[in-house]
Amino acid sequence: MRSINGTLIASYYACKRELWFMAHEIIPDQDNSFLELGRFNEETFYEREEKGLIVGDLKIDLIKKGRDTLVVGEIKKSSRSEKTGIMQLYYYLLYLKERGVEAKGEVLIPKEKKKIAIELTPEIEEELKEAIKEIEKIIDMETPPPKEKIKYCIPCAYREFCWA
Ligand code: SF4
Repeated sequence: MRSINGTLIASYYACKRELWFMAHEIIPDQDNSFLELGRFNEETFYEREEKGLIVGDLKIDLIKKGRDTLVVGEIKKSSRSEKTGIMQLYYYLLYLKERGVEAKGEVLIPKEKKKIAIELTPEIEEELKEAIKEIEKIIDMETPPPKEKIKYCIPCAYREFCWA
């Protein structure tokens, strides 16, 4: 099975065309101001936490000890990325569980002072396993899926590819 990471999971839930670009290592516009904002958020709002932990194929934004379990955090720029952030984080929890580590998750949106706590369920596990099969099929496509105007296009680093 090919290596899947949290970014690919998030892209799958945002835009399958973006997923294809990323999986094929097509470099997006690095000057995109939304990417800059993402970096700024990560570097400023959570300086006191342990961050950027690499676990196998994952790069986890934040990790801390909860009352009875480990808590992993995923930072997002705005509520626009809330759904993708939640699914990405569920994937982290599944990945850790499959390696014997039980954890809970928190999606953090510092600009909006928002925190969404999540826990893995059997239904979500099943959904993620199906999503991974779909992701593999999309990556194997010879050309990217068609473009589609969606809310994720505005901050998307690939928008020049699709809409210029
Ligand atoms: S600009 Fe829109 S259609 Fe193109 S990759 Fe980004 S989100 Fe997908």
